[in-house]
Amino acid sequence: VGNPNSGKTTLYNYASGSKEHVGNYAGVTVDSKRSVFKHRGYTFNIVDLPGTYSVSAYNPEELYVRRYILNSMPDIIINVIDASNIERNLYLTTELIDMDVKVIIALNMYDELEKRGDKLNYDFLGKLMGIPIVPTVSSKGKGIKTLFNKVIEVFENTEESSRHIHINYGHEAEKSISRIQEAIRLEKTITDKFSSRFYAIKLLEKDKGAFETLSQYDNYNIIKAVTEQEIARLEKNTGDDSETYIADAKYGFINGALKETLVKKTARQKSYTITEKIDKYLTNKYLSFPFFLLFLWIMFQSTFSLGAYPMEWIEKLVEFTASLMTHIIPEGFFRDMIVDGIIDGVGGVIVFLPNIMILFFFISLMEDTGYMARVAFIMDKLMHFIGLHGKSFIPLIMGFGCNVPAIMATRTIKSRSDRLITMMIVPFMSCSARLPVYILIAGAVFPKNAGNVIFTLYLAGIVLSIVFAILFKTALFKKKEFPFVMELPPYRKPTIRVSISHMWDKAMQYLKKMGGIILIASIIIWLLGYFPRNGKQITNEIKSNISLTTGTKTSQLENSYIGKIGKIIEPVIRPLGFDWKMGVSLISGFAAKEIVVSTMGVLYQADDNQDGIEGSLTNKLQNQVYIEGKYIGQKVFTPLVAYTFLLFVLIYVPCIAVITAVKRESGSWKWAVFQAVYTTAAAWVVSFLVFQIGTLFIR
Ligand code: GDP
Ligand code: MG
Repeated sequence: VGNPNSGKTTLYNYASGSKEHVGNYAGVTVDSKRSVFKHRGYTFNIVDLPGTYSVSAYNPEELYVRRYILNSMPDIIINVIDASNIERNLYLTTELIDMDVKVIIALNMYDELEKRGDKLNYDFLGKLMGIPIVPTVSSKGKGIKTLFNKVIEVFENTEESSRHIHINYGHEAEKSISRIQEAIRLEKTITDKFSSRFYAIKLLEKDKGAFETLSQYDNYNIIKAVTEQEIARLEKNTGDDSETYIADAKYGFINGALKETLVKKTARQKSYTITEKIDKYLTNKYLSFPFFLLFLWIMFQSTFSLGAYPMEWIEKLVEFTASLMTHIIPEGFFRDMIVDGIIDGVGGVIVFLPNIMILFFFISLMEDTGYMARVAFIMDKLMHFIGLHGKSFIPLIMGFGCNVPAIMATRTIKSRSDRLITMMIVPFMSCSARLPVYILIAGAVFPKNAGNVIFTLYLAGIVLSIVFAILFKTALFKKKEFPFVMELPPYRKPTIRVSISHMWDKAMQYLKKMGGIILIASIIIWLLGYFPRNGKQITNEIKSNISLTTGTKTSQLENSYIGKIGKIIEPVIRPLGFDWKMGVSLISGFAAKEIVVSTMGVLYQADDNQDGIEGSLTNKLQNQVYIEGKYIGQKVFTPLVAYTFLLFVLIYVPCIAVITAVKRESGSWKWAVFQAVYTTAAAWVVSFLVFQIGTLFIR
């Protein structure tokens, strides 16, 4: 099989010694010709099929080829490719890959490629696609023997690069594909004959032939319903026709594979596509990385500065709710719980909703425009340098959103060791749940440079992930693995509607988290701080009197359960410059990173020793001073302490959801526990060094 004019008939004639008519125009071969010949003790039944650009069942040729492949089930398919037009020819190849049939590529017209001075690393391209490639010049009979020797190797399963790969159609489409596959698999007899993945993809392409073929089966109605649902979902989420979307993904695969293997001698002068024009800069050897950093920087700057305004409004609303509750609920346990527990806790976190939405708006923008895939491509080289493949970069980037789906996305990495290493380093990609902590602390302590401070944290995370990847690769795993294609899809205009809906989904998720785990954690922290009660309750009036003479008085909070827990962990975190409340906040952050903030909200708001300070949590943090010990009177959140604390939050154990995801994906608790322990140890060591060395210089 192959495109028209790729030289199929010429190859067929040479191999079989027959004299079919060859022509320099499409459609010469209208039906199939067959002949028989012997080679190395094998009898070959070779069939010359009509030329097609794809097997989408639009015209008689395509339909013929597709039926032939699916019904006659040839042992091996020789895909004849015109080497002077590889991109377009490989489209059909991607469909053969989907069909999960044994393929070998005759890279025909290789003379033309050489004449032009282009260089193709066809061995590597074959390894990437899992299809052995043999260069041929059919018109001169060159390479044909080698081709059929390879055919025998593939048939006997002794060929090294031959394997079945999955083309990655992107996160959303892959979800649709597996759902449709499930529907198809309800009927076992279908998958005996055809690859369910191929049909799922064809159905997503709205391919009439696929619907027709499947309509003979009992589960057709289910298949049809699921397909329609998935097409609608995909089109809504991508803002694109599902057919176009799949085709783009296929070209993304082809472009990615060729970018790594094909060097054209002279760049074509004529008509650069927009994608090529943009790529000249964005994937340029020297500029790509600075550009990526610039985009990240813009993202975190705007996340902080644009978010500041709506954040203020929500802050006001939270304050208003608190004072409203203070007025309408009678004094006592219940009011304290609502105001000091729930509102201080959940309210402290909810103010960051706008920031989260802005962050996801940017992430979705980068994904939709195709820039994210480019970043992965740029990173491929760097990833190879640290012993991983560019494929690992996609989960890593997803980690900026949330580490849990990122851990799940490591499924696309075939190599187990690469997958494990990627899982281990994903948490260094600072997830959006940590952002509230950064914004709170950086905003309070570095109000002028908060955006930059946050940016450095993200960079620190990236650097750490590199360090640990190299460490793991050299210490734990050393095996070499198969290469994979990095997709390089074209740039698209982002659709604002899609970005908005993405943002909205994330906002809803965030709010749900507020109403769930963060609410519960706030109440627990508050309860632990409320009990046991002091013998004599200090009322508000006397409290303001004794606040002048504080210093020796220990407060309700410090005598509470949480205070006692805090005292226990204090020795461990003292060398890092943290007070016990930070320690408790860090521990509670294991449940979810936003809880670091809600716990701080409850603890710093509740402390009756710091009564002079009014207003928002930011204010409280800025003016928090030590009331005892050797730092008495000094500020708790100095710039050094604050930055050390942020580093600790960045590095230490990811939340429980990530740990369980690692357990699930790696198949054992071993890796999950290892991750929890090593990240926390790393956090402590880094924080210790930064704080101790920092104190030498900053006095
Ligand atoms: P088909 O449509 O795929 O069957 O292609 P044909 O076998 O009819 O070949 C189309 C044209 O390409 C013919 O003029 C062949 O002589 C020419 N051709 C086939 N193979 C090669 C090759 O390897 N190199 C060159 N330069 N021309 C070739
Ligand atoms: Mg022909």
